[in-house]
Amino acid sequence: MLDVGSLLARAADLVPGLLAPDRCWHCAAPARPAEPVCGPCRAALPWLPRHGCPRCALPAPCAPGRCPGGGGPLDAAWAPLAYEGPARSLVLAGKRPAARRLAPWFAAAMLARAPRAVIGDVRAVVPVPADPRRRRDRGVDHAALIAASVAAGLGVPVAPVLRRRSGRPAQHGRNRASRLRLPPPSACGPVPATVLVVDDVHTTGATLRAAAVALRERGATRVTALTALRALA
Ligand SMILES: [Zn+2]
Ligand SMILES: [Zn+2]
Repeated sequence: MLDVGSLLARAADLVPGLLAPDRCWHCAAPARPAEPVCGPCRAALPWLPRHGCPRCALPAPCAPGRCPGGGGPLDAAWAPLAYEGPARSLVLAGKRPAARRLAPWFAAAMLARAPRAVIGDVRAVVPVPADPRRRRDRGVDHAALIAASVAAGLGVPVAPVLRRRSGRPAQHGRNRASRLRLPPPSACGPVPATVLVVDDVHTTGATLRAAAVALRERGATRVTALTALRALA
């Protein structure tokens, strides 16, 4: 059954810009123009620390040998928000066409506090492509929109060098084991030496690590990852 927020989000898809600017994406309470959440939901956003585990973006340093990103192809990773509460509603809302304005909001949150180890000396931003079928269904690729805003904020180009096969299931709603079995993205063309991979959600990290492997095979020597949200479980 749809809740009030979902109904408003669907209405906003039909009449872009009419309802959404004044309503919180999480609870549908009144929100200030250009703000995706109301005051109470903004206060409840699950911000993550700047300096958690630098390799896997979890909010606390991992014990030796226990880091899911340890020894992997990503040099550093970070996200400003946990994939919980109002932030979770935001990323789900962002997959709707009327929510294009969420991308600059996420990008600003990502760049405002990102560690230099993640965004420093980046030559290009590489978006993780959405599943082509899902992108067609939604009419929007939220990660690509966020990546474009991040690239603009950093003053570097977008390098859309990752590809994804069509027709494979998306990650949302699948369990951890299923996500890990999904085909990885591949890279094409020359890749700049230092690249920042951008996606909306960092879940297990399998997709980001696969992207980093593909980018290194095409010439990248340093690959970092910046996402809007990090799943903590
Ligand atoms: Zn709210
Ligand atoms: Zn870690």
